[in-house]
Amino acid sequence: MFIGVPAESTAGETRVAVTPETVKKLKALGHEVGVQSGAGVAASVTDEAYVAAGASITDAAGAFGAGLVLKVRAPSEAELALVKPGATLVGMLNPFDAEGLQRLASAGLTSYALEAAPRTTRAQSMDVLSSQANIAGYKAVMIAADQYQRFFPMLMTAAGTVKAARVVVLGVGVAGLQAIATAKRLGAVIEASDVRPSVKEQVESLGAKFIEVPYETDEEKEAAQGVGGYARPMPPSWLARQQVEVAKRVAQADVVISTALIPGRAAPVLVTEDMVKSMKPGSVVVDLAAGKGPLGPHGAPGGNCPLTEADRVVVRHGVTLVGETNLPARVAADASSLYARNVLDFLKLVLNKEGALHVDLNDDIVAACLMSHEGTVRRK
Ligand code: NAD
Repeated sequence: MFIGVPAESTAGETRVAVTPETVKKLKALGHEVGVQSGAGVAASVTDEAYVAAGASITDAAGAFGAGLVLKVRAPSEAELALVKPGATLVGMLNPFDAEGLQRLASAGLTSYALEAAPRTTRAQSMDVLSSQANIAGYKAVMIAADQYQRFFPMLMTAAGTVKAARVVVLGVGVAGLQAIATAKRLGAVIEASDVRPSVKEQVESLGAKFIEVPYETDEEKEAAQGVGGYARPMPPSWLARQQVEVAKRVAQADVVISTALIPGRAAPVLVTEDMVKSMKPGSVVVDLAAGKGPLGPHGAPGGNCPLTEADRVVVRHGVTLVGETNLPARVAADASSLYARNVLDFLKLVLNKEGALHVDLNDDIVAACLMSHEGTVRRK
């Protein structure tokens, strides 16, 4: 099978879908890999490194013209015109983008969106949401530490004592847990909130404090269990109580890292404008939900904080708000390495022993990731 790996064209995207390590493994399985010239440069992988691993270097038409195309992000319309009907596409294709999926179906592609893989043990090695969210959580803290004009750790020096930074993490999924772990390594004092009570133990095991918000009705208890490991929207009664508890912590915080998301819905507002006003000058909010929240006062979607602006750093009421929407792309080399391994593991499900593509709908991971096949959108 000839496998094509185009360069990513989405603005700010630095990742690449294969690395020399995964090229070698694909070659060992009997495949040929054609990488578009320069595809790995932003992730610190040269064309020469790909050639040394056994790939050939090609142009966009060569990479998109393969029977199996590996991408990070969904192709543009112009790129889709280069893909052959009947080809297979694997990438992070955004399962909630109905129009985009229709375009893939209309182009005659069999396409798989890796974000749609179930959160099961067998799917863990191909779970791109986890591999990339882990990186986002780490980088969010690095950026916060860079923007913050004080130390994270408590320091006792001859010139006096410096207090540890107080960090509040909102949303403790994969990104939030890594943010807690990273801030802890830097010496911060951390408190965290999530709708799911099951994360309390994880928060405490990382040395942070869980912000308790009691569940008072059966409806609240049931919603808090989530579905398939994901959060569900919580009843307004619980959210109002959560807001009171979170507001107290945010007013004291030096840094807020917010990561609260509900798949397929607008991100919840957890840091209101009044809360931002209550923060100390020089505090920092890194909002991983930037661009995914309800419409903000700036006329575009905010994040967990409505004042956040996607892909911008703004100062509002003396607080620095960071709205980067693609933090994994800021750790391009490792983000690509982990993503490429996720892709390789997924390919083992769609390539049979003879190296030919097949669509096995009896496989729950394949069935969940399949977005288009034989001209129609197949999203479950
Ligand atoms: P996510 O990115 O969808 O959401 C981030 C976090 O925000 C979640 O913890 C969610 O509960 C929280 N959140 C949503 N609304 C909130 C609110 N109003 N206030 C506070 N927090 C709110 O989550 P994710 O990182 O994809 O992880 C989701 C779950 O799936 C986690 O429990 C994770 O451990 C689990 N998971 C399981 C597997 C597996 O079993 N293989 C793999 C990966 C993740």
